[in-house]
Amino acid sequence: MKVVIVAKTRMGSGACIGGLTFDGRSLRLIAPDADTNDKFNQEYNVGDVWDVEYTPDPDLTPPHTENIIVHSKRRLPAIDDVAGFIHNHMPPQNGGPEVLYAGLVQQTRAGVQYISARTGIPAYSTMFWQPDKPLVRDDDAKRIRYRYPTADGGRSVTFVGFQEPPDEIPAGSLLRISLAHWWRPSDMPDGELRCYVQLSGWYQAKVVDEWALPDWLPEDEYAFNDSHPENMLTPSKVTIIPSTTPFVPPDLSAIKTKLKQVFGYDEFRPLQTEVIKSVLNKQDAMAIMPTGSGKSLCYQLPALFFHGLTVVVSPLISLMEDQVMQLQEAGVTAVYLNSTLSYEQHLYISNQIRAGQVKLLYVAPETLLRPETLLLLQHSNVDCLTIDEEHCISAWGHDFRPEYRQLVEVRHRLPDAVCIAVTATATERVRADIKATLEIPDAGEFLASFNRDNLFLAAEPKTDGLSQTTAFLKNHKGESGIIYCATRKQVDILTAQLTQRGWPVLAYHAGLTDNERRANQRRFIYEEAIIMVATIAFGMGINKSNVRFILHYDLPKNLESYYQQIGRAGRDGLRADCLLLSSYADVGTINYFINQQAPDQQRGARARLEAILGFVEATICRRRPLLNYFGEDYTIDNCDMCDNCQSSDDELVDLTIPAQKYLSCVKRTGEIFGMTYIIDVLRGSRSQKVLSRRHDQLSTYNIGGEFSKKEWQFLARQFIQQRLLIQDMQHGSLKLTPKAYDVFKGEQVLGTLPQRQPLTERWQATAAHDAELFTLLRDKRSELANAANVPPYVIFSDRSLVAMATAFPQSRSSFGMMYGVGQAKLDKYADIFLPIIQDYCREKGIKEQVTTAVAPPPTTTNRPQNRTEEVLAAFNAGQSISTLAATYGVKKSTIISHLWKSILAGATLRAANLLQESQLSTDQQKQVLQIFAAFGTDILRPIYEELNQEVSYEELHLIRLHFICNKL
Ligand code: ADP
Ligand code: ZN
Repeated sequence: MKVVIVAKTRMGSGACIGGLTFDGRSLRLIAPDADTNDKFNQEYNVGDVWDVEYTPDPDLTPPHTENIIVHSKRRLPAIDDVAGFIHNHMPPQNGGPEVLYAGLVQQTRAGVQYISARTGIPAYSTMFWQPDKPLVRDDDAKRIRYRYPTADGGRSVTFVGFQEPPDEIPAGSLLRISLAHWWRPSDMPDGELRCYVQLSGWYQAKVVDEWALPDWLPEDEYAFNDSHPENMLTPSKVTIIPSTTPFVPPDLSAIKTKLKQVFGYDEFRPLQTEVIKSVLNKQDAMAIMPTGSGKSLCYQLPALFFHGLTVVVSPLISLMEDQVMQLQEAGVTAVYLNSTLSYEQHLYISNQIRAGQVKLLYVAPETLLRPETLLLLQHSNVDCLTIDEEHCISAWGHDFRPEYRQLVEVRHRLPDAVCIAVTATATERVRADIKATLEIPDAGEFLASFNRDNLFLAAEPKTDGLSQTTAFLKNHKGESGIIYCATRKQVDILTAQLTQRGWPVLAYHAGLTDNERRANQRRFIYEEAIIMVATIAFGMGINKSNVRFILHYDLPKNLESYYQQIGRAGRDGLRADCLLLSSYADVGTINYFINQQAPDQQRGARARLEAILGFVEATICRRRPLLNYFGEDYTIDNCDMCDNCQSSDDELVDLTIPAQKYLSCVKRTGEIFGMTYIIDVLRGSRSQKVLSRRHDQLSTYNIGGEFSKKEWQFLARQFIQQRLLIQDMQHGSLKLTPKAYDVFKGEQVLGTLPQRQPLTERWQATAAHDAELFTLLRDKRSELANAANVPPYVIFSDRSLVAMATAFPQSRSSFGMMYGVGQAKLDKYADIFLPIIQDYCREKGIKEQVTTAVAPPPTTTNRPQNRTEEVLAAFNAGQSISTLAATYGVKKSTIISHLWKSILAGATLRAANLLQESQLSTDQQKQVLQIFAAFGTDILRPIYEELNQEVSYEELHLIRLHFICNKL
């Protein structure tokens, strides 16, 4: 017998299912395995049609609800209009609650309903009701209840369904009601039967005219299509092609045109093309790409081509709101459905979807799994089902969400939709699990490199955390970033210290109230230059694209956390700096926690600690230990974007004497002290610690005055890295290795001398764009963002502003060529931003430089092998070092280093006046050139010394390039 499912209510973790047959019988479907299967009946959903095998109970007179044990069943095509079906097969009762009991119900003066023994029970135990007044939510401690308003206070209906309960159910909605039970108060055995009504769900009765506005949306806001978040409710002006037109996948050039037109980008990033093509060809895909690599585009772009709807399941509400805002800014009709919406908003959006006006729907998994959402989608021509954060599907992942498993069922309900699953984290095991669960073929797996080459990675020993932090922050004035601390206490202390020094910092940790946390997070997202000092509780779901730095004030507990945390920086592809400070005390703390763990977990935790220490102590490119840890073979010698690669430009010098001094001091103090104590002795400290141990009597006492404390630390770390010393993990004490004894015998030690400034102070990025114009543009952006109540980066990313402040576009068409400027933003913002640029350029006499500034594709995950060749080609084609630095979002020194590498590889550079990039006076430049002529260009250190260390290495690198270009 065919049954239409009309209600699904809760029953433990299974479901109680109500059906209506075509001959008007009301059935309750019972699973034979309900005792043993804790997910029984979940396969049914409202609107489904099933063919179930059953023999009607001869003793039961329809239309009372019959309980049917379903031993075999078959799914049939769902029906379109369940409400219509109900109207035809079990017409609803209209009016107040008295109609529910077919006029048999009566009520006491106190409002209690009862059935008179004389009249008996009504003919229906389950029915449909269209109340003539709205039901208002009025929960009691245990249940969700609704009140039908009457003069005497009204009577309540208990809700037991799966829908999201709104605050009010509008009058005229079609409700399914069960006269669940009736009872007699025990002290009144002869009294009347009292009634109890259950509400098992409702159907939207009010069909909003597609173009009519809900009355809560102010008229003028609708007319003025600004970027107000509520305008996601604005009906789109996009014409939807009827789904009868067969879909033909577009060719690559059409896809690229759309990329520029809508998103304002010129090129795809690695893997985007492959994934997009696969999706457009309706081949299921799974993409594992690092944060910031542009996963979203992989489904957003196809969505613009598909005739139907693209559904994006996303567990993070803040992320989905953010993406919807950004899409709307780009002129795409995107909406979201989640628990934050009011009932009217929900209704309005559902109607928009039903009318085919929406291209992208973001939906939370819980919302998607609700019967009315599934029903809506089944009739909405879904072309693509995207599962974001797909790793939540796997029980092997670190973030398993049981509701994700049910998405498999959703897939089956949308057989015409191609499925794309994306995530930034998935181990091999999780990947295999996802593929199997979602039935994605091997060919559909796309795995990107996890290298994020716009992140500058550095690690330093924490010698004086606060001054290292402020030194680092000085190079990031006016920028937004995150400082991670290991404990709440440390967050509070550092926040206070930095606030006192005038830095715009906010704190974030689990000890704050929800409101404080929310307010601080919002300010971080919506304001320009906030620095967040936080525990690892902060960061989930932060989509802010212009986080410019991450500073780890303490050692993260493993490389997974570290990678995830630095991943929040530089999503716009511009350079972002990541500095990790750590001390042996941190190692001690982590070890302490490891020792508290169960023995079988300790080994793994310890191995992960070792791995992050390997990263911290690496003297080779930092990308190697990091990416190797994630199973990737990173083989490039010099990434140019880590402290080690950058200091590999520093000349190696003979450190044998300082090494002998340090090592022998370790030996003479008995190999039981840590790094700092040894330095104290070497530098002749008069501290009580040293004197009481009579270490002032040692021959190594006070023989190390030539280096400062910090410099000795720098040297000592190299001795450790070169395995002359080993450091005890628990106590930090140093011991000699056999290699150390060779040094005593005269074996040479090579290494680098400490820079006169520590790395934290050396970072000053020489910006290639016009900082003053950038600030003007940024102020305008803030103003617009404030007015529209959106985060600034939704209007333009930093990167777009950098492009404008480098290329100085003077016309609409040049403005349209800027990074991130698509058609919608051109229309909306050209008239606002162009005059600022024009005025500025007129005043300063600057000319447009658009043709050179937009040429090569800036990428985040480009293969670095080609980067040197790319830079060389672009340079020889006439682009300046500043322009190249701006286009790639890197420092000028990085470009110079690429060019130097090209020369070493035998390439020829065009002669160019590179000296105009120099900050030195003409006289100084001349002097440097003369010294190059005298000393040669092979090693820079003698030249640096010759110039009394007054000219920076960066300048020397630049002038050397000039020297060579113009000599050849
Ligand atoms: P994630 O992989 O972390 O989800 P997003 O999809 O949010 O990354 O993309 C990060 C940023 O890169 C966004 O600002 C996005 O607009 C931008 N982006 C994506 N694809 C490109 C591209 N081909 N060219 C330039 N920018 C892009
Ligand atoms: Zn490197």
